[in-house]
Amino acid sequence: DRAELGRLKYAEAVTLDGVQVKLEANIELPEEAEQALAAGADGIGLFRSEFLFMGRRDLPGEEEQYEAYATVVKAMQGRPVTIRTLDIGADKTLDGDATVATNPALGLRAIRYCLAHPEIFQTQLRALLRASVHGKLRILVPMIAHLHEVRAVRQAIAEAGQNLESRDISFDRNVEVGAMVEIPAIAIAIEPFVEQLDFLSIGTNDLIQYTLAIDRGDNDVADLYDPMHPAVLRLISHTINAAQRYGKSVAVCGEMAGDAQVTRMLLGLGLREFSMHPQQLLDVKKEVRQSHTNALRVKVASALNRAERINLDELAG
Ligand code: PEP
Ligand code: MG
Repeated sequence: DRAELGRLKYAEAVTLDGVQVKLEANIELPEEAEQALAAGADGIGLFRSEFLFMGRRDLPGEEEQYEAYATVVKAMQGRPVTIRTLDIGADKTLDGDATVATNPALGLRAIRYCLAHPEIFQTQLRALLRASVHGKLRILVPMIAHLHEVRAVRQAIAEAGQNLESRDISFDRNVEVGAMVEIPAIAIAIEPFVEQLDFLSIGTNDLIQYTLAIDRGDNDVADLYDPMHPAVLRLISHTINAAQRYGKSVAVCGEMAGDAQVTRMLLGLGLREFSMHPQQLLDVKKEVRQSHTNALRVKVASALNRAERINLDELAG
């Protein structure tokens, strides 16, 4: 019940076998940082910055963006704040953008859009770097599929930094840069990406869409949108294992992370960092506190090896 969940707010997210788990919040607007704190979040795992850009005719400038990012970083008082660069296109469009792609989900979206519009990207990167002095800001890049995109992002961040230097504005020179793992290609060929990035965040919403060729917004095929498909779980598992081998942090920030029914599954895959809507945090924490990671590891690994669909009931209790 709610009262019990309320008490959980101050309890640690630790499993029965003593494994510490990080539970973070997904937010879409700066004001929601307060809600994340109130829910006891360990940080912001995903700030979807595109919501600052949507539902308006003009684009937010460097100053406006800086204020928004700084508000969140300050509110979180030193806890990590992971801000995703503009993820525009497909299900999220800019007002007044008349371009109609033949297949928007496979088109010029997210990082592809940003690299094609360097002035928009530079403005955002300058604002992000400026906000980095107020706490622990991390830059998360959506829809990465190619290593040359990672190099282009590093280059763009360096350029934004040089601009700030020329204006005598200080920023964190070691700001961490990570990628969303949401295209199957990067999950399959993950090693060089892990090597060159500081952290990873698995976007299961898009990863499922692209793995199963199911439009995430199309009701006619919604019954085929299956987070438990063995192919999806293998991609998640492969990504988590690679990150752990390289000593890099890896989270899941898609809807799966906030679904308490799959918490044990994700723990069994080795996940130790979950980011979700603040309202889901205590339910997931409750599951974590009743789980035994060693037992889950064994059960999940054997099902994954057989590429069998895992029965979640088997993981309960
Ligand atoms: C995802 O794809 O899982 C994700 C977290 O990003 P979004 O839902 O904003 O595409
Ligand atoms: Mg996504």
